[in-house]
Amino acid sequence: AVTLHLPSRSLVLLCGAPGSGKSTFAERHFLWSQVVSSDRCREMVCDDEENMAVHREAFSLLRLIVRLRLSLGRFTVIDSTALERKHRTAYVSMAAQYNFHPVAIVFDVPYELCLRQNESRSRRVPPEAIRHYHNLLQKTKISVRNEGFDRVFILSPEQIRTARIAFED
Ligand code: ATP
Ligand code: MG
Repeated sequence: AVTLHLPSRSLVLLCGAPGSGKSTFAERHFLWSQVVSSDRCREMVCDDEENMAVHREAFSLLRLIVRLRLSLGRFTVIDSTALERKHRTAYVSMAAQYNFHPVAIVFDVPYELCLRQNESRSRRVPPEAIRHYHNLLQKTKISVRNEGFDRVFILSPEQIRTARIAFED
């Protein structure tokens, strides 16, 4: 099984389509408080994690929490789709400002598996949205190694299930 070595001063960006298992992975490997989730931020600002109309406010809160954590030197994981280059590079810059290692973990999960896992949970995303993000995933896999991340892990479904995390420093 693959072991992901992460410096304790890491800003980890999970990147993957809806239903690819980001939140499940985050819950398994990290403390609740280390994970800053866009869904939770949406819920905190408007009581509804599915309300996409509060995108701006939710991400404003997410960035604020992440900045504060980095300013305090705390290991931080961002749980959002992060499949657009401009969003990822913004977090790479933020990490650099605080002397953190930017790390990307890409969930390389087939469209059909995302769909199936999406069906198995309470909060369902429309299949068209999964398709849209899955297309962005293909671009992400090509460019993510050239975006300034210190470490990039592109994980298959098998690796997502079995990966171990080892903290360094
Ligand atoms: P979103 O971007 O919409 O928040 P997500 O990437 O966080 O999606 P999860 O909510 O973690 O996805 O997973 C979607 C569903 O798939 C959940 O019901 C979860 O229990 C299930 N699931 C996640 N990972 C696995 C796995 N490795 N094997 C089987 N089921 C899984
Ligand atoms: Mg999630």
